[in-house]
Amino acid sequence: MQPLFPPPETILLPIEGEAAGFPVRRVYCVGRNYADHAREIGHEPNRDPPFFFQKNPDNLLTAGRAFPYPSQTNDVHHEVEFVAVLAKGGSDIAPEDALSHVYGYAVGIDFTRRDMQAAAKAAGKPWSAAKAFEHSAPISPIIPAARLGHPSTARIWLDVNGKRRQDADIADMTWGMADIIAHASRLFTLAPGDVIFTGTPAGVGPVKRGDTITCGIDDLGTLTVSVV
Ligand code: MN
Repeated sequence: MQPLFPPPETILLPIEGEAAGFPVRRVYCVGRNYADHAREIGHEPNRDPPFFFQKNPDNLLTAGRAFPYPSQTNDVHHEVEFVAVLAKGGSDIAPEDALSHVYGYAVGIDFTRRDMQAAAKAAGKPWSAAKAFEHSAPISPIIPAARLGHPSTARIWLDVNGKRRQDADIADMTWGMADIIAHASRLFTLAPGDVIFTGTPAGVGPVKRGDTITCGIDDLGTLTVSVV
């Protein structure tokens, strides 16, 4: 069968030092994965299994592109996150084997329409509109694990207009990367091209047009995004 119209383009993410791009299949995100962030948004931290929501591949915003302030909100928050991208998939992946599925890592921002998310939570409605909107997932170039290794401790930080807003360590994640991949693979069939945002530390807050956001994870890279 021929497609009725040209199929949507595959989203390709730049890989540091490689000519080829990383083709994206799905984007998973973990909620409330740092105790101090869970507290700041009004939840008791716990060791419940990680929970997931999704963004769309074409919500990813590659480095160097500006973030257009979205419609239907007056309270967009930044959330800096440690991101893994998979080169191998599977179901029921053992935690001990999980990191061997990772192609590389990046720094990302999970932009959130916080006002819409609060209303959705209060009404028991889904988060899609609060999370999976256009350009809502800026991401740095990918660093292959073959070069970087698999970081389990590293400073993660975010500045707005040069002022530090978020400052933590990925070692503070409630669920580490291997456990997140293992849990996700029990719920979904993971596959090459999947991208996983792993949750944000405390210090989330609003951004406005004209802001410059710079964030990073030590040894992994930085990402600068202008809000327009
Ligand atoms: Mn998040």
